[in-house]
Amino acid sequence: MYRIVKKDGNAKHAEFTTVHGTVQTPVFMNVGTAAAIKGAVATSDLEQIGTQIELSNTYHLHVRPGDQIVKKLGGLHKFMSWDKPILTDSGGFQVFSLSSLRKIKEEGVYFNSHVDGRKIFMGPEESMQIQSNLASTIAMAFDECAPALADRGYVERSVARTTRWLARCKAEMKRLNALPDTINPDQLLFGINQGAVYEDIRIEHAKQITEMELDGYAIGGLAVGETHEQMYQIIEAVVPHLPEDKPTYLMGVGTPANILEAVDRGVDFFDCVYPSRNGRHGHLYTNYGKINLFNAKYELDERPIEIGCQCPACRRYSRAYIRHLLKAKEMLGMRLCVLHNLYFYNTMMVEIRDAIDAGRYQAYKKEKLEKMRSGS
Ligand SMILES: [Zn+2]
Repeated sequence: MYRIVKKDGNAKHAEFTTVHGTVQTPVFMNVGTAAAIKGAVATSDLEQIGTQIELSNTYHLHVRPGDQIVKKLGGLHKFMSWDKPILTDSGGFQVFSLSSLRKIKEEGVYFNSHVDGRKIFMGPEESMQIQSNLASTIAMAFDECAPALADRGYVERSVARTTRWLARCKAEMKRLNALPDTINPDQLLFGINQGAVYEDIRIEHAKQITEMELDGYAIGGLAVGETHEQMYQIIEAVVPHLPEDKPTYLMGVGTPANILEAVDRGVDFFDCVYPSRNGRHGHLYTNYGKINLFNAKYELDERPIEIGCQCPACRRYSRAYIRHLLKAKEMLGMRLCVLHNLYFYNTMMVEIRDAIDAGRYQAYKKEKLEKMRSGS
């Protein structure tokens, strides 16, 4: 199911085969929170910009329209008309970050919906049931993402509970996949490594979850307030304790530079809201650094966002036109910017895999980082 095509140092190009097709890694998952990429980007657009895998949020879809509704409509793939892989997060991150009045117990978390305030309970079993109803390709384990600056005692207790929750997730996923009316009986389960910035807790936890033989392993709880250097150190410490024959996923990361550094440390899967969120605000990624299209200097600029870019925005429209759309609050402006940014990320992942295949990842990383920093 997971096959390493080529290794270059710790960077690896691999193939991950699922019932919804094969993903080439390293891969950037395009984030469609409520079963759509924000910025009026449709699944038909994703086919134009090289998206291999889409990510949807369990919590958001549970609250609205409701996972039972999605199940009645044949699952997320049919609902949003996308036949390639989908990863759903566990809902845990949103439960802990978005909702108010939460109460963590051994059985799970009690919280109030951010939409209508109604009381909801979510534990490992509920998260698996919701993700099974959504019928994603890859389900994520329900965990607690402890605050980055939490004290050691809190992190130890939280990680121990996350491990107990993981065993419950695995048992529940096995039960659900065997039910006759399950839409995707081949649903995969990834476990999540936690431990904040405490390397020894993270390493011990990585060893424990590796023994549970899951389909893949994520590193969670990073990019939540620690420095980039701390993040790289933790990745470097944890990855050697995760199985090499399974994919590694760094959750919620990050900038192009973060991705280049994490690939260098053996990470396969990434997701982040930066390209879509920044796009919606007219902040665009290029090989020469980020540009802000609201800047007056682009008023008469007839060049595309990036010369040579093959995305749907750059093939046809000028910076001046897209700048006008953004200023006039025309939805098309946002849409074109999001398409360009996602294309930029997806294309960078192709370059990364090509560089690994050619055994020149170090040189590629150095050139790319220098170019992006040059800002010309
Ligand atoms: Zn472009």
